[in-house]
Amino acid sequence: MNLTMLGTGNALVTECYNTCFILQENNEYFMIDGGGGSMILHQLKHTGIDWKNVRNIFVTHKHIDHITGILWIVRMICQYMSQGEYEGDATIYAHDEVIDLLRDLAGKLLPKKETDFIDNRLHLIAVEDGKSINILNKKVTFFDIHSTKAKQFGFCMELEKDKKLTCCGDEPYNPYEKKYAKNSTWLLHEAFCLDSQADIFHPYEKHHSTVKDACILAEELNIKNLLLYHTEDKNISQRKELYYNEGKKYFNGNLLIPDDLESVEL
Ligand SMILES: [Zn+2]
Repeated sequence: MNLTMLGTGNALVTECYNTCFILQENNEYFMIDGGGGSMILHQLKHTGIDWKNVRNIFVTHKHIDHITGILWIVRMICQYMSQGEYEGDATIYAHDEVIDLLRDLAGKLLPKKETDFIDNRLHLIAVEDGKSINILNKKVTFFDIHSTKAKQFGFCMELEKDKKLTCCGDEPYNPYEKKYAKNSTWLLHEAFCLDSQADIFHPYEKHHSTVKDACILAEELNIKNLLLYHTEDKNISQRKELYYNEGKKYFNGNLLIPDDLESVEL
Protein backbone atom coordinates (compact mmCIF):
# COMPACT_ATOMS: atom_id res chain seq x y z
CA MET A 1 0.00 0.00 0.00
CA ASN A 2 1.20 3.39 -1.00
CA LEU A 3 -0.04 6.87 -0.01
CA THR A 4 0.46 9.90 -2.25
CA MET A 5 -0.36 13.42 -1.14
CA LEU A 6 -2.19 15.19 -3.95
CA GLY A 7 -2.28 18.37 -1.90
CA THR A 8 -1.03 19.40 1.54
CA GLY A 9 -2.30 22.94 2.06
CA ASN A 10 -5.18 24.58 3.89
CA ALA A 11 -8.17 26.18 2.15
CA LEU A 12 -6.49 29.43 1.09
CA VAL A 13 -3.10 28.27 -0.18
CA THR A 14 -1.69 29.36 -3.53
CA GLU A 15 1.79 27.76 -3.33
CA CYS A 16 0.49 24.18 -3.11
CA TYR A 17 -2.85 22.39 -3.54
CA ASN A 18 -5.53 21.90 -0.88
CA THR A 19 -5.25 18.78 1.24
CA CYS A 20 -6.27 15.57 -0.48
CA PHE A 21 -4.53 12.24 -0.95
CA ILE A 22 -4.76 8.86 -2.59
CA LEU A 23 -4.08 5.30 -1.44
CA GLN A 24 -2.96 2.74 -3.97
CA GLU A 25 -2.44 -0.99 -4.02
CA ASN A 26 -2.08 -3.26 -7.04
CA ASN A 27 -3.22 -0.59 -9.50
CA GLU A 28 -6.38 0.09 -7.47
CA TYR A 29 -6.95 3.53 -6.00
CA PHE A 30 -8.87 5.09 -3.11
CA MET A 31 -8.89 8.89 -3.21
CA ILE A 32 -9.75 11.02 -0.17
CA ASP A 33 -11.15 14.47 -0.97
CA GLY A 34 -10.61 16.41 -4.18
CA GLY A 35 -9.18 19.78 -3.19
CA GLY A 36 -10.73 22.98 -4.49
CA GLY A 37 -10.94 22.59 -8.25
CA SER A 38 -9.80 21.21 -11.59
CA MET A 39 -6.23 21.25 -10.30
CA ILE A 40 -7.09 17.76 -8.98
CA LEU A 41 -6.67 16.56 -12.59
CA HIS A 42 -3.24 18.21 -12.78
CA GLN A 43 -2.15 16.65 -9.48
CA LEU A 44 -3.30 13.16 -10.50
CA LYS A 45 -1.59 13.51 -13.87
CA HIS A 46 1.67 14.63 -12.28
CA THR A 47 1.71 11.70 -9.86
CA GLY A 48 1.35 9.43 -12.89
CA ILE A 49 -2.18 8.31 -11.96
CA ASP A 50 -4.78 7.97 -14.70
CA TRP A 51 -7.93 9.56 -13.22
CA LYS A 52 -9.95 6.81 -14.91
CA ASN A 53 -8.38 4.30 -12.53
CA VAL A 54 -9.61 6.18 -9.45
CA ARG A 55 -12.72 4.08 -8.77
CA ASN A 56 -13.16 4.63 -5.00
CA ILE A 57 -13.49 8.11 -3.53
CA PHE A 58 -14.31 9.37 -0.05
CA VAL A 59 -15.30 12.96 0.73
CA THR A 60 -14.77 14.04 4.34
CA HIS A 61 -16.94 17.16 4.39
CA LYS A 62 -18.52 19.89 2.31
CA HIS A 63 -15.96 22.69 2.60
CA ILE A 64 -15.02 23.89 -0.87
CA ASP A 65 -11.31 23.18 -0.44
CA HIS A 66 -12.33 19.48 -0.27
CA ILE A 67 -15.48 19.01 -2.34
CA THR A 68 -15.09 21.20 -5.43
CA GLY A 69 -12.41 18.97 -6.97
CA ILE A 70 -14.81 16.06 -6.54
CA LEU A 71 -17.30 17.83 -8.83
CA TRP A 72 -14.59 17.79 -11.51
CA ILE A 73 -14.09 14.07 -11.02
CA VAL A 74 -17.88 13.53 -11.20
CA ARG A 75 -17.94 15.56 -14.40
CA MET A 76 -15.04 13.65 -15.96
CA ILE A 77 -16.46 10.24 -15.06
CA CYS A 78 -19.99 11.06 -16.28
CA GLN A 79 -18.76 12.79 -19.44
CA TYR A 80 -16.51 9.90 -20.40
CA MET A 81 -19.24 7.39 -19.56
CA SER A 82 -21.63 9.24 -21.85
CA GLN A 83 -19.00 9.26 -24.63
CA GLY A 84 -18.50 5.52 -24.23
CA GLU A 85 -14.90 6.05 -23.12
CA TYR A 86 -15.18 4.84 -19.52
CA GLU A 87 -15.57 1.17 -18.69
CA GLY A 88 -17.18 -0.15 -15.52
CA ASP A 89 -18.31 1.68 -12.40
CA ALA A 90 -17.00 4.11 -9.79
CA THR A 91 -18.15 4.86 -6.24
CA ILE A 92 -18.12 7.97 -4.07
CA TYR A 93 -18.57 7.52 -0.32
CA ALA A 94 -19.45 10.32 2.10
CA HIS A 95 -21.89 11.05 4.92
CA ASP A 96 -25.50 11.74 3.94
CA GLU A 97 -25.27 15.56 3.78
CA VAL A 98 -22.31 15.48 1.40
CA ILE A 99 -23.95 12.81 -0.77
CA ASP A 100 -27.15 14.92 -0.99
CA LEU A 101 -25.08 18.00 -1.85
CA LEU A 102 -23.07 16.23 -4.56
CA ARG A 103 -26.24 14.83 -6.08
CA ASP A 104 -27.90 18.25 -6.00
CA LEU A 105 -24.88 20.14 -7.42
CA ALA A 106 -24.23 17.59 -10.15
CA GLY A 107 -27.91 17.68 -11.12
CA LYS A 108 -27.88 21.47 -11.33
CA LEU A 109 -24.47 21.97 -12.93
CA LEU A 110 -23.99 19.08 -15.34
CA PRO A 111 -25.98 18.03 -18.42
CA LYS A 112 -28.66 15.38 -17.92
CA LYS A 113 -27.13 12.99 -20.45
CA GLU A 114 -24.12 12.88 -18.11
CA THR A 115 -25.88 12.84 -14.73
CA ASP A 116 -28.02 9.93 -15.95
CA PHE A 117 -25.01 7.79 -15.04
CA ILE A 118 -25.26 8.78 -11.37
CA ASP A 119 -26.73 5.89 -9.34
CA ASN A 120 -26.43 3.78 -12.47
CA ARG A 121 -22.66 3.42 -12.89
CA LEU A 122 -21.39 6.23 -10.68
CA HIS A 123 -22.60 5.19 -7.25
CA LEU A 124 -23.08 7.77 -4.47
CA ILE A 125 -23.06 5.86 -1.20
CA ALA A 126 -23.94 7.47 2.15
CA VAL A 127 -21.86 6.03 4.99
CA GLU A 128 -22.81 6.09 8.65
CA ASP A 129 -20.77 6.66 11.77
CA GLY A 130 -19.03 3.39 12.68
CA LYS A 131 -19.93 1.67 9.42
CA SER A 132 -17.26 -0.43 7.68
CA ILE A 133 -16.84 -1.00 3.96
CA ASN A 134 -14.29 -3.08 2.08
CA ILE A 135 -12.12 -0.83 -0.10
CA LEU A 136 -8.89 -2.01 -1.80
CA ASN A 137 -9.54 -5.33 -0.02
CA LYS A 138 -9.15 -3.60 3.33
CA LYS A 139 -11.70 -2.92 6.05
CA VAL A 140 -12.38 0.82 6.16
CA THR A 141 -14.46 2.19 9.05
CA PHE A 142 -15.85 5.69 8.71
CA PHE A 143 -16.46 7.82 11.79
CA ASP A 144 -18.03 11.16 12.65
CA ILE A 145 -15.38 13.55 14.02
CA HIS A 146 -18.15 15.63 15.66
CA SER A 147 -17.11 18.87 14.02
CA THR A 148 -18.93 21.99 15.13
CA LYS A 149 -18.27 23.70 11.75
CA ALA A 150 -19.69 21.28 9.20
CA LYS A 151 -20.52 17.58 9.65
CA GLN A 152 -17.30 15.74 8.91
CA PHE A 153 -16.19 12.12 8.81
CA GLY A 154 -12.74 10.58 9.06
CA PHE A 155 -11.84 6.92 8.56
CA CYS A 156 -9.67 4.10 9.83
CA MET A 157 -8.25 1.54 7.41
CA GLU A 158 -7.01 -1.81 8.71
CA LEU A 159 -3.76 -2.70 6.99
CA GLU A 160 -2.04 -6.08 7.16
CA LYS A 161 -0.40 -7.43 10.34
CA ASP A 162 -2.47 -5.41 12.84
CA LYS A 163 -1.38 -2.13 11.31
CA LYS A 164 -3.93 0.63 10.83
CA LEU A 165 -4.13 4.03 9.21
CA THR A 166 -6.39 6.70 10.71
CA CYS A 167 -7.38 9.94 9.00
CA CYS A 168 -8.79 12.56 11.38
CA GLY A 169 -10.07 14.78 8.58
CA ASP A 170 -9.02 18.43 8.68
CA GLU A 171 -9.80 19.25 12.29
CA PRO A 172 -7.90 18.47 15.48
CA TYR A 173 -8.36 15.03 17.03
CA ASN A 174 -11.52 14.70 19.09
CA PRO A 175 -11.51 12.19 22.00
CA TYR A 176 -14.55 10.61 20.38
CA GLU A 177 -12.13 9.16 17.77
CA LYS A 178 -9.91 7.51 20.36
CA LYS A 179 -10.75 3.90 19.53
CA TYR A 180 -9.72 4.52 15.94
CA ALA A 181 -6.74 6.84 16.41
CA LYS A 182 -5.08 5.26 19.47
CA ASN A 183 -2.15 3.01 18.56
CA SER A 184 -2.43 3.82 14.85
CA THR A 185 0.54 2.83 12.74
CA TRP A 186 -0.22 5.88 10.61
CA LEU A 187 -2.07 8.97 11.80
CA LEU A 188 -2.97 11.69 9.31
CA HIS A 189 -3.59 14.91 11.22
CA GLU A 190 -3.85 18.58 10.38
CA ALA A 191 -1.26 21.11 11.55
CA PHE A 192 -2.21 24.60 10.49
CA CYS A 193 1.13 26.19 11.36
CA LEU A 194 4.06 26.17 13.76
CA ASP A 195 3.28 26.75 17.41
CA SER A 196 5.93 29.49 17.31
CA GLN A 197 3.85 31.26 14.62
CA ALA A 198 0.40 30.77 16.15
CA ASP A 199 0.16 34.51 16.77
CA ILE A 200 0.57 35.09 13.01
CA PHE A 201 -1.76 32.39 11.67
CA HIS A 202 -4.37 32.10 14.47
CA PRO A 203 -5.02 28.34 14.16
CA TYR A 204 -7.41 28.07 17.12
CA GLU A 205 -9.85 30.64 15.72
CA LYS A 206 -10.14 28.37 12.68
CA HIS A 207 -10.58 25.13 14.64
CA HIS A 208 -7.08 24.02 13.74
CA SER A 209 -3.97 23.14 15.70
CA THR A 210 -0.21 23.63 15.57
CA VAL A 211 2.64 21.24 14.83
CA LYS A 212 3.39 21.11 18.56
CA ASP A 213 -0.25 20.28 19.45
CA ALA A 214 -0.43 17.50 16.85
CA CYS A 215 2.87 16.02 18.00
CA ILE A 216 1.95 16.03 21.70
CA LEU A 217 -1.31 14.35 20.79
CA ALA A 218 0.40 11.71 18.62
CA GLU A 219 2.80 10.90 21.45
CA GLU A 220 -0.16 10.41 23.84
CA LEU A 221 -1.95 8.20 21.35
CA ASN A 222 1.11 5.97 20.83
CA ILE A 223 1.36 6.73 17.10
CA LYS A 224 4.19 5.19 15.08
CA ASN A 225 4.07 7.47 12.04
CA LEU A 226 2.50 10.92 12.14
CA LEU A 227 1.79 12.65 8.84
CA LEU A 228 0.95 16.36 9.05
CA TYR A 229 -1.07 18.17 6.39
CA HIS A 230 -3.55 21.04 5.83
CA THR A 231 -0.90 23.68 6.56
CA GLU A 232 -0.27 27.33 5.74
CA ASP A 233 1.96 27.96 2.71
CA LYS A 234 4.01 30.99 3.80
CA ASN A 235 6.86 28.70 4.92
CA ILE A 236 6.49 26.26 2.04
CA SER A 237 10.14 26.12 0.93
CA GLN A 238 11.34 25.41 4.49
CA ARG A 239 8.17 23.80 5.81
CA LYS A 240 9.60 20.31 6.10
CA GLU A 241 12.58 21.41 8.15
CA LEU A 242 10.76 23.99 10.32
CA TYR A 243 7.82 21.72 11.11
CA TYR A 244 10.07 18.70 11.71
CA ASN A 245 12.32 20.60 14.11
CA GLU A 246 9.39 21.88 16.15
CA GLY A 247 7.49 18.58 16.13
CA LYS A 248 10.37 16.27 17.02
CA LYS A 249 10.69 17.91 20.43
CA TYR A 250 7.29 16.45 21.37
CA PHE A 251 6.95 13.27 19.31
CA ASN A 252 9.28 10.28 19.35
CA GLY A 253 7.80 8.41 16.40
CA ASN A 254 8.38 8.94 12.71
CA LEU A 255 7.28 12.47 11.73
CA LEU A 256 6.39 13.17 8.10
CA ILE A 257 5.68 16.55 6.55
CA PRO A 258 5.20 15.65 2.90
CA ASP A 259 5.11 18.04 -0.01
CA ASP A 260 2.46 17.83 -2.71
CA LEU A 261 2.91 14.76 -4.93
CA GLU A 262 5.15 13.02 -2.40
CA SER A 263 4.50 9.31 -1.77
CA VAL A 264 5.10 7.10 1.24
CA GLU A 265 5.09 3.32 1.47
CA LEU A 266 2.76 2.22 4.27
ZN1 LIG B 1 -9.97 22.07 4.69
